[in-house]
Amino acid sequence: MSDSATQGDTCSERSDPIARTANAESGGLSRRSMLKAGALAAATLTAARAQAQTDAPSVATGSVAGRPFRAFVRSGTTGSVEDLRLREIGRRQVLVRTTASCGCYTITRSVLGDRDYETPTIPNHSGFGVVEAVGAEVRRVREGDRVLVCGTPECGVCYQCLHGNPEACNYLNSQLFNEPIADMADGTGVIQQGAIGGLSELMVAMEEYCIPLFTDLPDEELSLLGDTLAAGLSSTLTYGRVEPGSNVVVFGAGPIGLAAVQGAVSQSAGQIIVIEPVAYRREKAVELGATTVLDPNVDTDTLVERVREMCYGPTDRLDAGGRYGPGYRYGGADFVIEASGGDLFPPAVEPGPDPTGLLALRQSWDVTRGGGHLTLLAAGQRGEISFPTARFCLSTRSIHGGQMGGMHPMRDAPRYVTMIESGAIDAAAVITATYPLDGVVEGFERVADRSELGVVFTL
Ligand SMILES: [Zn+2]
Ligand SMILES: [Zn+2]
Repeated sequence: MSDSATQGDTCSERSDPIARTANAESGGLSRRSMLKAGALAAATLTAARAQAQTDAPSVATGSVAGRPFRAFVRSGTTGSVEDLRLREIGRRQVLVRTTASCGCYTITRSVLGDRDYETPTIPNHSGFGVVEAVGAEVRRVREGDRVLVCGTPECGVCYQCLHGNPEACNYLNSQLFNEPIADMADGTGVIQQGAIGGLSELMVAMEEYCIPLFTDLPDEELSLLGDTLAAGLSSTLTYGRVEPGSNVVVFGAGPIGLAAVQGAVSQSAGQIIVIEPVAYRREKAVELGATTVLDPNVDTDTLVERVREMCYGPTDRLDAGGRYGPGYRYGGADFVIEASGGDLFPPAVEPGPDPTGLLALRQSWDVTRGGGHLTLLAAGQRGEISFPTARFCLSTRSIHGGQMGGMHPMRDAPRYVTMIESGAIDAAAVITATYPLDGVVEGFERVADRSELGVVFTL
């Protein structure tokens, strides 16, 4: 507080016309200004020293080894809630008491799939909670902070971060540091998926994954900022930033696609066209601001042409800002977000026309206009896709990768908090069910069959 107050005083002094006149008379600074500036400088220095001392490496808050807690653990081909004992945390690690963790469709395979886990693993890749202890070298968070353990880290100093791509921060390579954090009853070490986990009463996270959030918003809503909500918002607010009045197309109205709809609304997009096979999700999209919803099962063969026609605009007069002409170069939307995913498990609701998701992936490229932006979020798709070479080379489309939609976590998570607080984003709108730790399997079954929209696990 004292720092910002000091800075504010300095700014008002600089803009004071009387002080400027006095400065001119004395060839720079008046005596009054010099005395005041000296006092301010001393005060600033004192405050900065005090701040530096409190920012000094935290002192570890005592041993946490042996602390009992419960977690959902995948071991072999089965999964169950287990009693674990915590190991000591490292010097750059943070112990978080989890309060909420987002149910992510990508994780359904890790919870419900038939993969054989050689090393017992706590699934999920995000969570929210309260800092309980920090390693001796941790600076970013402190004991008692409310903290997001984000699906994407941001260290700020690796090559990727320094070159403007923290969504691809080198700390994403969790294999470098994903050591066991706890032991099973028989002494077997337990690791966390992606060095995060989340379906657990405790998380141990590297500092680079921890984003302190200073707000009174509910834990359940904030937990979405480590995963689905943040990915959808970022797809419209970072690399493919939606422009006012523009045409936006969103494939998929799950938690991520609906966040993209909200992001587009927040940017005053013109048309927001949502393509989604499930009726209740189309209705939700309209509630949140979609201007048109299309069912890909009804419009399968004509979808691309239909969307292009909808985006042509009010005139085909080329000398009056219009556009005309069929084909990949002229028709289509300014911003397209592909968030439909493939069917990792059979849906209990209306399935789309292609369970692999590759059709939607190709269509998303086809409905992006030449010069437009395409952001790809559907990590659940499997297989390969081909494009006609000349069109691929000449289309001038910008394609953005989908690692959390291009989120810069330290910059963007606080921004999204502000947007939720102001009412610009309705985070609660996509939470349709919460489950306790003992309901992990049931909750993920609802995520997997898409019968619930957004699920949060409250630990
Ligand atoms: Zn996820
Ligand atoms: Zn980094």
